[in-house]
Amino acid sequence: MKPDDPNITWIEEPKLGLAGMLYLPLFVQGLTTTFKHMAKSLGGGVVTVSYPDEEPKIGNPLIYRGVHRLNKDEQGRVKCVACFLCATACPAHCIDIIAAESPWPDREKYPQSFVIDELRCIYCGMCEEACPVDAVELTSLYNLTGRSREEMMFDKEKLLSVYDATKDKEPMKSPALGGTAT
Ligand code: SF4
Ligand code: SF4
Repeated sequence: MKPDDPNITWIEEPKLGLAGMLYLPLFVQGLTTTFKHMAKSLGGGVVTVSYPDEEPKIGNPLIYRGVHRLNKDEQGRVKCVACFLCATACPAHCIDIIAAESPWPDREKYPQSFVIDELRCIYCGMCEEACPVDAVELTSLYNLTGRSREEMMFDKEKLLSVYDATKDKEPMKSPALGGTAT
């Protein structure tokens, strides 16, 4: 495509006034945010907690991005249908799936192996957004530790056990929160 191509629409750079050239609006905007936080902390608003003596309060666990889980369906089977959308969407390339023919008639494939490298993950939530069947979700568990890299490679069994441990206090993402699970 050449610069004189009629399909190109050229946009003029907006003309800045003196205030814009001196970055005044942005300066005021930044200071407003700073003073807002300062007023909150002076008014007794909590900014930090003495972790681990004190546990931080998670406002809404359904929108927190912590350790992953693999959800189960009503029959206790892994919900994942091994479509690889989460692995494709993952910017950190930390999801490794091996698909196999499903033993159940209601789907073609299931994950024979499903591993997430929790150390490599940047907890962006793209996998959760990409999943068409709400099978992979991020929970509000934040204090994961391990003594080796291998321990932090969460395999299918471990991810399913996170589901078992969190399902009662964290239901699958609800439509009210932007999810599609019921
Ligand atoms: S949260 Fe982001 S980085 Fe982590 S596994 Fe999901 S897509 Fe990848
Ligand atoms: S977790 Fe969801 S997106 Fe990832 S492979 Fe399974 S069904 Fe597909």
